[in-house]
Amino acid sequence: MTALKLSRRSFIKAAAVTSAAMGMGGVAGTAFAEEPYTAANSAGEVRRIRSCCRGCGKMECGVWVTVENGRAVKIEGDESAPHTMGSCCNKSVASLQACYHPDRLAYPMKRTQPKGEDPGWVRISWEEALDSIVEGINQVKAKYGGEALFTMGGTGRIWCMSPYAGYGSWFMTPNTSVAWQVCKGPRHFSSALTSEYNHSWSASVERPPVFTIWASTPEGSNYDEAGRSVVDEAMQADTFISVDPRTTNLGKESDIHLALRGGTDTALALAMCDVIIKNDLVDWGFVKRWTNAPFLVVADKEPSGPDAPHIFHGPNFIKTTLLTQADLQEGGSPFKYMVWDNTSQSLKWFNATGQLAAVDPTYDPAADPECNCWEGEQPWVRYDGEGHKDTWSRRTFAGQEGEANVREGHSQAWMPDPDAFESIDPAMEGQFEVTFKDGSKHTAVPVWQLFAERCDQYAPEKSAEITGCPAEQVTEAALVYGTRKDPRWGNGGILYQLAVEHHGNSIMNCRAIELLTCITGNTDGPGGQRGATKIDVNYMGNFSDQSYSKAIDSPLAHPEIMEKQLGRDTHPLFEWWGLWANANSIWEAGVTGDPYPVKGGVCQSGDFMNMGNTTMAWECLKQLDFFFDIDLWHHPTSELADIILPCRHWLEVPTPRQSQGSGGALGACVPCVEPLAETWYDPEIVEALYQRNNIPWGWDEANPYPTLEEKLDYVVREVSPSWAAYVEEFQQNGWWDVKKLRPDDWGTYRRYQTGFLKKAYTEAPTPQNVIPGFNTPTQKQEIWCTVMETYHGAEGALPDYRPNPDSRERNPELWEEYPVQCLTGRRIPVYFHSEHRQLPWCREVWPVPRVEINPDDAREWGIEQGDWCWIESPHGKIREAADLFYGVPRGVINCEHTWWFPECPAPEHGWRYSAVNQLVNNSIDDPHCGSAIVRGYPVKVYKAEEGCPEGIIADASDPRLKAWQPVYEGRA
Ligand code: SF4
Repeated sequence: MTALKLSRRSFIKAAAVTSAAMGMGGVAGTAFAEEPYTAANSAGEVRRIRSCCRGCGKMECGVWVTVENGRAVKIEGDESAPHTMGSCCNKSVASLQACYHPDRLAYPMKRTQPKGEDPGWVRISWEEALDSIVEGINQVKAKYGGEALFTMGGTGRIWCMSPYAGYGSWFMTPNTSVAWQVCKGPRHFSSALTSEYNHSWSASVERPPVFTIWASTPEGSNYDEAGRSVVDEAMQADTFISVDPRTTNLGKESDIHLALRGGTDTALALAMCDVIIKNDLVDWGFVKRWTNAPFLVVADKEPSGPDAPHIFHGPNFIKTTLLTQADLQEGGSPFKYMVWDNTSQSLKWFNATGQLAAVDPTYDPAADPECNCWEGEQPWVRYDGEGHKDTWSRRTFAGQEGEANVREGHSQAWMPDPDAFESIDPAMEGQFEVTFKDGSKHTAVPVWQLFAERCDQYAPEKSAEITGCPAEQVTEAALVYGTRKDPRWGNGGILYQLAVEHHGNSIMNCRAIELLTCITGNTDGPGGQRGATKIDVNYMGNFSDQSYSKAIDSPLAHPEIMEKQLGRDTHPLFEWWGLWANANSIWEAGVTGDPYPVKGGVCQSGDFMNMGNTTMAWECLKQLDFFFDIDLWHHPTSELADIILPCRHWLEVPTPRQSQGSGGALGACVPCVEPLAETWYDPEIVEALYQRNNIPWGWDEANPYPTLEEKLDYVVREVSPSWAAYVEEFQQNGWWDVKKLRPDDWGTYRRYQTGFLKKAYTEAPTPQNVIPGFNTPTQKQEIWCTVMETYHGAEGALPDYRPNPDSRERNPELWEEYPVQCLTGRRIPVYFHSEHRQLPWCREVWPVPRVEINPDDAREWGIEQGDWCWIESPHGKIREAADLFYGVPRGVINCEHTWWFPECPAPEHGWRYSAVNQLVNNSIDDPHCGSAIVRGYPVKVYKAEEGCPEGIIADASDPRLKAWQPVYEGRA
């Protein structure tokens, strides 16, 4: 075995190739260029089809696909796509190699050998495959109960998300193990707790004057607010702030780089809040009226509260120490939260009954003049069911038209003026004596005062030791962020990504960052934290998760099933959230049988390497009675399946595409080429399985199994007479701007004032569902989180930095033996998580996993550029090739994740060599959402004298890459 001798120069060269490919769109790389491309096969029909790339995650990258004689030959950027503006990345270009790859799964297959060995796959018919799957799953269900089954998925192609819910009605299991638990799930979990599900997305596409990227490398990445647009945004912003332990490609261009220690995000965000507060940069108009900051906390009150509905699935109650009218007087309302009014020197209430509208059919908010109103104020003018801004909210809209042009150079939303208090001036600090209805006296303190005290605990000079960021620099960043360029609205939101979700403090991290944007007035403002684009045109994945099905009998509707959800015993908030089980708990139950056996499941476009300790996940999968997999490829997870089903590539399928985040774009994936052999489209697969179980699968009871065409017509019905018409318009005019298509749902800022923030965008507006406020128990953006308080006590109500048990603060002995902090998970320009390892262009550019090491550390450790290194924790060890990089601080390394080697033999395909999550400690995770601690843990690093793992493709000259060149024959 030899060491990989990849010089620094060749790394740089590879990076340059990557950048060039990202910029050039459809320019072919070497492997593809060798494919014969004759005049004969280029002489026929040439079509240029507008579509949407799905070479990676959720990004809406518009592309043109050139198809010649039925063969896709070129992919290049679509100038009409708002994020990418005519560019597309090398993964997109390499999709040609994926679509025509010789190793793509073309037929259903079943294994003939025991698990743990080469499966000995043999081709079977779809009929046999589907029958076997139904039999296998139903046998497990009959023998052990639905809870013995799990569904599993990664960041699937968007039409391939059924593991997130789609098998629910059949499996009747509470146990979903989905990458969502560590991949933007925590931020949705967090925003659902405190404002609005999905509200964490930042509309950076609107070019905020202060552009803040927190823990992300979106320039080479694959999320909303990524691609070409973020580079422009960073360059055009007055100030660009990068918050990241590493110096990223884009971050090195920042004006301020806060190189925090991994996992200390909450402390840093609270430190910045402290600066904002002490320099009076708070948006008081928003904070006083639209957050629960003025509400009063009575520390010695027995927690109580109304039956407060929430948007998820737990019991409808909260227990809070916030003072309500019910505490003060007999017959008082538990929905009326009290504040101290400086004007009248008395207590006043805010009436949060708006929450009832979603769950109590007997409650009519339009008939309640106090609904979501402050005491003594005029009720807001109700939505009349027809018009909007001039008619339905007097306070907001009287006599004004809002801003016609918020900021030059991007698509505009309509901006109502802030809705001011009419009579109340709520106290934000002080102590107030209150008398309860039983005569007892208590002290009440505004939430804001407690929050300010919490922030003061993390004042920059106090938290510098935690975060590693100098106090002066944190202060400077906070002042720049908080000092408005335009007095009318904040400087912009914060574009934060997955790193903050990969810690034992992930919910607190997300909450603290959201509050930084909140108190500076960036909630639903221009370039601010706007949440997901709202339009009722959704992707075909919705058929897989049954959003449109009338036949929903979800496990979520059965408390007796949900209470068996694995991980609930250690994560009380799961009762409220419900949407995933704890992955670690599933693997452990599979291996130990405790608290009950886990014996079967499905994986659809995912893998077991994405969170928790990979080794235990593998052992769990190996012992299952029945497991099936749906994917494009053989890969380590599929090699443990009993049946594998081949699905279609994005160049082969139709689906609408909308921005997942705040990008506000609507487009489509349009089939460009004939599908490969016997591949099926995922929604059809899931529907076929449901049909075999006699479970309806559609919106129309008379037509329980709609055709694909009927499904497509249905999902675009709100904007187009048919899918065909939709595609035709897309081809002609390009991507839609959802602000224009949905002016109320999306084309208006400050929707907490207009009432459209709370309204589900799948509903037509009515006087009953258009209600100002937020989807929280207090109907405010919650600085004091009442749901968290209900499950974790008052100490959880405000965000706080809580080091995990393996942190340096709590376990210094561990760090003596494992003194290096391991970061991981960054985006690699040519890969998407575990994908594309078998695409020649990608592998040529980036053949092996790299660990970034500070050159000074490397010198001390006797490691040179390109040396293979062992990275070891108490839980496992892996090898990656050293890439010396001053962009990681000393004492920190940055590994690549989810590596496997398709060229290595089944069943493992070499995953044990380098899959970084073998190093993860399964016994600790976020106590609220269960996100595994996949970054920031202790390791040691030393040179691997053995060199490179045996049998892998270690450099671009390996002849095996040629065997992966596209094949065009035998596709029928
Ligand atoms: S970032 Fe992803 S979706 Fe966008 S062009 Fe690249 S592979 Fe395609």
